[in-house]
Amino acid sequence: VARYTYDLAIIGGGTAGLLAATTAKLLGARAVMIEGEHVGGDCTWTGCVPSKSLVAAAKAAHHARTADRFGVHADGVRVDFGAVMQHVRHTVADIYHDESPEALRADGIEVIEAFARFTDPHTLALSNGQTLTAKNILLATGASPIVPAALADLPHLTNRTLFNLTTLPDPLIIIGAGPAGVEMAQAFRRLGARVSVVAASDQVLPRDDAEAGVLVAESLRAEGVTLHLGAKDIAYARALNGVRVAVDGHEIGIGTVLAATGRSPNLAKLGLEAAGVQVDANGKLVLTPTLRTTAPHIYAAGDVVGGQMFTHTAGYHGYIAARNALLPVKARANRPAMWATFTDPEVAHAGLTEAEAITRFGAGQVQVTRLPMSRSDRAQTEANTRGFLKAVHHPNGKLLGVTVVGLHAADLLTEWATLLWRGGNIGDSNKFVRPYPNFATVNGSLGLSFTRRTLPTGATGALLRGLVRLFNR
Ligand SMILES: Cc1cc2nc3c(=O)[nH]c(=O)nc-3n(C[C@H](O)[C@H](O)[C@H](O)COP(=O)(O)OP(=O)(O)OC[C@H]3O[C@@H](n4cnc5c(N)ncnc54)[C@H](O)[C@@H]3O)c2cc1C
Repeated sequence: VARYTYDLAIIGGGTAGLLAATTAKLLGARAVMIEGEHVGGDCTWTGCVPSKSLVAAAKAAHHARTADRFGVHADGVRVDFGAVMQHVRHTVADIYHDESPEALRADGIEVIEAFARFTDPHTLALSNGQTLTAKNILLATGASPIVPAALADLPHLTNRTLFNLTTLPDPLIIIGAGPAGVEMAQAFRRLGARVSVVAASDQVLPRDDAEAGVLVAESLRAEGVTLHLGAKDIAYARALNGVRVAVDGHEIGIGTVLAATGRSPNLAKLGLEAAGVQVDANGKLVLTPTLRTTAPHIYAAGDVVGGQMFTHTAGYHGYIAARNALLPVKARANRPAMWATFTDPEVAHAGLTEAEAITRFGAGQVQVTRLPMSRSDRAQTEANTRGFLKAVHHPNGKLLGVTVVGLHAADLLTEWATLLWRGGNIGDSNKFVRPYPNFATVNGSLGLSFTRRTLPTGATGALLRGLVRLFNR
């Protein structure tokens, strides 16, 4: 008789939980996924899917307004915000269809719809009155938006409420210039709102390459977004038509405020003390590289880990944590960091930035190879060559990190992320054959520009060329 009801209980049914449940099923384990709100989590309901659906609608409006450069004139472009939000909600519903509890159960995955908390290291009490035991437990509870304390008691939006809007928020004041803040700034501006962005950082996308931040800031300003960067003191007050926002003592506007100031892991309601799971001085889970907590049978995956809060990371974590919980040989979660911001220009990054590489290896061990996006034939055909590719590598070409800015940057990045993961060289990208003129063809051009630079010169070069001439006599 089994000692526990399940081999693995997964708390949370977002991307991390879903990938863990699928992995456990493939491994033949008795697993259960427990979800308190909506299966699919942030990504499906309040993150990637609705935000990218909104970005797509905004892009359509922008393309229509700027089609003149192709000799196409779409006059009188009109945005029906209610219909835009219907598109957003339909997309969410379509994606949810395949991950709903019914769909998962039909696929052989056990799902319980309830909140869970520990009563002892192997026992979970559920909000539906049930209790269950599991040999291994995975924390996949995601994260919640952080709202500045001064804004908390005033009306404001977060990603949890933004996509329920039915009328255009205008003016819109966005606090935070990270990926979600700038994506929403450009999208709402393109949909017709007056938009300001207020941020403590001196650049937009502060975690990205500085040159990328400059390009995105220029693009936002050119489209009419007002940026208030380097804000030291942001004050809020209730006003008749929304919230009055002042930056360093100067009022910058009254409007609907969206807090895009980051997210913090959902740990508080789990009863972690009862399970022996420890957090550090910053309230972050203490984890091994195999995603194991201080309780050896309890793992964590996704946003609850903190750090890289992205869906692809959550999915990867979910897979690694589930297999580590269920198998004796443990794998490390060691893929390079990677993220993308779906603005125009799009920004995508994998591995180390130039500054991080210099800190780690010293300036003498770090080189940068850069190519403007104007070298992309496909970008030329699209009449949009804003952007660049930048590879950070050792002098011998071994890749350390890559930033791509421009059309389809996130898709271009996938090749680079694969090379980084495999410990590849920048010149390797020139060995791929791609269907011309796809966007990724420019990746090969970046590799070639490094290879050309490293062709032997001096006596070795002369010897090589002499040999070629000799051989071809
Ligand atoms: C506006 C926005 C845009 C984004 N865009 C992108 C993007 O383009 N690309 C990208 O890669 N990432 C994006 N992200 C990030 C992405 O949404 C998250 O990284 C991802 O959803 C994390 O998945 P997760 O499974 O770790 O957590 P979640 O998706 O948050 O899932 C956690 C689940 O656990 C449940 N839960 C919590 N506590 C309990 C409990 N005690 N018992 C039972 N259930 C519980 C919650 O209800 C939730 O469903 C975006 C985020 C935001 C906010």
